[in-house]
Amino acid sequence: MIARLRADLKTLMAIPGLSGHEERVAAWLRGQLNDLGLPNRTDRLGNLIATIQGDPAKPSVMIFTHMDQLGFFVRKIEADGLIRVERMGGVSERAMAAQEVTLCGAAGDIAGIIMNKAHHATTPDEKYKVLTAPEIRIDTGHGSKAAVEAAGIRIGTPVVYAPRVIELADERIAGTSVDDRAGCAALLDLARARKGRDGPTLYLVWSVQEEFNLRGAVVAAQNLHPDIAIQIDLMLATDTPDMADRGEMVMGGGPGISLYSFHGRGTLNGVIPHPALVSLMEDTAQALSLPLQRSAQVGVLTDLSYVQLLGDGVASIDVGYPMRHSHSTIECCDLRDLVGLVRLLDGALDRIPAAMKLERD
Ligand SMILES: [Zn+2]
Repeated sequence: MIARLRADLKTLMAIPGLSGHEERVAAWLRGQLNDLGLPNRTDRLGNLIATIQGDPAKPSVMIFTHMDQLGFFVRKIEADGLIRVERMGGVSERAMAAQEVTLCGAAGDIAGIIMNKAHHATTPDEKYKVLTAPEIRIDTGHGSKAAVEAAGIRIGTPVVYAPRVIELADERIAGTSVDDRAGCAALLDLARARKGRDGPTLYLVWSVQEEFNLRGAVVAAQNLHPDIAIQIDLMLATDTPDMADRGEMVMGGGPGISLYSFHGRGTLNGVIPHPALVSLMEDTAQALSLPLQRSAQVGVLTDLSYVQLLGDGVASIDVGYPMRHSHSTIECCDLRDLVGLVRLLDGALDRIPAAMKLERD
């Protein structure tokens, strides 16, 4: 299982998929689902949905994870061919300068670099200043606006950090868009595990536009009317010196559940999970002798926060894998946590009873 997750994650990390432009990620996943013989479809927003029909007496479950990644959109092409961008999503501007990028142009992918002023010429006050996304320039080497445009790059062209995978020791994978291709790989593995098995009706959703203020999953849920929603995304690993005060989430320490998330700025939203689902995950972890970590964080948000509000309310919980360096160019996770996550979800689905009480009284 770990070898397959490694291969799938590496493949998924190599595919560009800025929010609103997830088609290439979806196409690869669709191919895998078709190979599995799992019926699937895509909605108008681009969410990829596979359904596994189950026992109608059991509550239906939507398990979802996002395909998109953060990045930039081309805003302007200067006369000298240098490209200006707007940021898309929570780009860490501290990790931005001097990075390689991929511009997904109409005629194919084009390589570029985010320019960084020659160190020898930086003034003392420039030396410790972080450039913001609107300030940066991207050089593709073309040298003129006409040449850039002839290469298929225009205003609105998606730009992502050049896909990169770094295999570290001890089952750790670092690189671009671990958030949330690791979730995509885990959900694909869960699809393989659940095919042909009894249990609740499952809607497996690879969603779009999560990094664009949480738009895709809510559309899928609106249509599917699940009783239960389980969202897979990163959990902030806090086992590094700079994060130690924020919790007890250890990378390699197993999958996690979120007991509280709240953005606390901009989008004032978050999730306090349904207690029956907390118990379900805890009981499953205990029965399978899996470690289960706990997260409670302000500053974190997933699209589950909108899904939970639909209809009569959807019983919801965030599950995930510890990840370091979120929204940087080199995010990092541990494959063993993904294996544990798939086992946890698979076991939890087996334990959902026909008369599961989801009303709160
Ligand atoms: Zn994410």
